[in-house]
Amino acid sequence: MEALFSSPEIWREFFETYYQHELNRLADAVISLDGVERSVYVDFLRDLAIFREGRLAEELLENPDRVISDASKGIEFAYNIHDVRLEKCQARFTNLPPTRRILIRDLRSEHVSKFISIEGIVRKVTEVRPKIVRAAYVCTSCGAEVMVEQDDNFLKQPYECKKCQSRQRFILLPEKSEKIDSQRIKIQEYPENLRGGEQPQTIDVFLEGDLTGRINPGDRVVVNGIVRARVRGLGGKKIPHMDIFIDGNSIEILQQEYEEFEITEEDKKKILELSEDPGIYSRIVGSIAPVIYGYETIKLAIALQLFGGVPKKLPDGTEIRGDIHILLVGDPGVAKSQMLRYVHRIAPRSVYTTGKGTTSAGLTATATRDEIDGRWTLEAGALVLADKGVALVDEIDKMRAEDRSALHEAMEQQTISVAKAGINAMLRSRCALLGAANPKYGRFDLFSPLVEQIDLSPTLLSRFDLIFVMTDEPDRERDKLLATHILDTHELGEKLEMMKNLASSEVKPTEIEMRKIEPSIEPELLRKYIAYAKRTVFPVLTSEAKERIIDFYIGLRDSSKNSSVTITARQLEALVRLAEASARLRLSDRVTSEDVDRVIEIFRRSLEQIALNPETGEIDIDYGFTGTSKTQRDRIFTIKKIVEDLEKSKEYPKGVPEEEILKRAEEKGIEYAKAKEALYKMKEMGELYSPRPNFFRVVHNY
Ligand code: ADP
Ligand code: MG
Repeated sequence: MEALFSSPEIWREFFETYYQHELNRLADAVISLDGVERSVYVDFLRDLAIFREGRLAEELLENPDRVISDASKGIEFAYNIHDVRLEKCQARFTNLPPTRRILIRDLRSEHVSKFISIEGIVRKVTEVRPKIVRAAYVCTSCGAEVMVEQDDNFLKQPYECKKCQSRQRFILLPEKSEKIDSQRIKIQEYPENLRGGEQPQTIDVFLEGDLTGRINPGDRVVVNGIVRARVRGLGGKKIPHMDIFIDGNSIEILQQEYEEFEITEEDKKKILELSEDPGIYSRIVGSIAPVIYGYETIKLAIALQLFGGVPKKLPDGTEIRGDIHILLVGDPGVAKSQMLRYVHRIAPRSVYTTGKGTTSAGLTATATRDEIDGRWTLEAGALVLADKGVALVDEIDKMRAEDRSALHEAMEQQTISVAKAGINAMLRSRCALLGAANPKYGRFDLFSPLVEQIDLSPTLLSRFDLIFVMTDEPDRERDKLLATHILDTHELGEKLEMMKNLASSEVKPTEIEMRKIEPSIEPELLRKYIAYAKRTVFPVLTSEAKERIIDFYIGLRDSSKNSSVTITARQLEALVRLAEASARLRLSDRVTSEDVDRVIEIFRRSLEQIALNPETGEIDIDYGFTGTSKTQRDRIFTIKKIVEDLEKSKEYPKGVPEEEILKRAEEKGIEYAKAKEALYKMKEMGELYSPRPNFFRVVHNY
């Protein structure tokens, strides 16, 4: 074995010099028998790196197995106030030098058996289960007990009995075996570190003892530990290609938001300068998917979504989200997917997924049984991975059934509660959702209510702050402009192809593409701008802004009297969020009436598309979300009353004839055709039934 400076003795000196307080705390815990925590955390950069010219520090990085074992023995023999032996203590090391921070995708064979640290987001955790570290066996020949040290692979049997030398049968004694809590977690690279379209890479981390049970999917962590390689099996045979994983020595949970963006003084100057530009709104709109023609209102809404409103905590503890949710609905081929992919490229911390994906963990979270070790595993879905960012969900209408029910909570409370098998957890999903959905029947019909056309429930739809319909209506003028725009882009594509062939070109094609179609603000700067705004600007409503919002809200309420209050209260919150985002976009901490006007304009556009009642030409939120307008509902109410009254009169024991109902409806001012339409709609809705053709009875809900 290599001669090392490290020894239990020298570690004992280290701990007594720097960690006396910790040793005493541990001794107290051992004495009072509540000593579950058996770790001493050593700050690598602060303490270890300066002890004895950093020799232990260096050796730890290169020979971690031996050095950690020395360190743990050092703790055992170190002095403490109770003079007890601190047995089974574990030395854990945090705060490694940045040079040891390896990207998951850069882990190579040179790292195997070395101490390194990785950073990422926790994607999966298994339940915590005991693992045998020293197995106790009984020899069936002589009855002697034999202990066998275990490692990570398969359970090892004794080779022979130490007492009678028999190599016969041994039986495992689980109770007498020495066990330790163990858990496996999967860490994934940060979404923000991926360049557009790259698949995130993952690595498994094994945790033991007091490290287990502390981590949730969605946590952002630094894991310090030893890289291991394990031979893989393939159909019962072993192959020389190895899997790598990490033996976790310590985990640091990170709290900061948007810290990953380093904003230099120079960046800050540019950002502040930009924010002064009176044309900042159109410049940002022009930087969102410049290759997509038109849709300015939608792009402005998305811009506001990227900045977000201010989350609030009410005195009673209720939290109101600041995140803005947007849904894009529309015909196939209108650039919905394209829009989402583009936003993925510019949004800091965004996760792109599609509701269709059956292999992925879905949108919220999944608890499954691991196929290898049979343990229950909790896996984070897109909204958890996008915590404090943006989740882009294409084909959201095709999401899995379990997501459908969990999504309400995930969008509004921004939490996901899981209670299944051995797993009880509450995950956070503090993200803005930008979803896209296709109409159920192929094409979107502006004259039918929204809810009838997409496969999402009214309650789920009401969680979106804004819903836009992207239609592909033929329009000569627009079509010509669109065609020119697309062809220009394609021509550009050909030029790029040529340039790529010129090997000397250092410029990435996407860069040229974007410069040429003038994104106005380059994505890198825009990302920093957004991060800066979210970090430093928290706008509040001025009194004139409040008044403006109240006026608009009351107007909306008037236009949908009798409608369920909850829907519009949500809309009020949405207006506030959007107005705050509008102020934040120009780095202002005051929401002015201009912000409100801007937002009302967007809001109207959205409502006109989804809630315009074709009968009255008025905005009717209930029509959009439930498919029944206020006038229709009044009608239904009247007709139901008519049928009920006639039933009670005992004149029609076998159902009320259609003609009679329509006649009475007409007397009450309902047109014949409309009354008939309502009658059949009621039958469809299950309010009425026909005992025989053209006769109706009321369905009573007892
Ligand atoms: P969807 O997801 O709505 O079905 P896609 O995003 O897949 O549609 O778009 C289909 C194609 O049509 C894409 O190549 C897209 O770039 C193009 N396209 C559609 N509308 C526009 C537009 N307004 N501007 C530029 N390209 C467009
Ligand atoms: Mg699509």
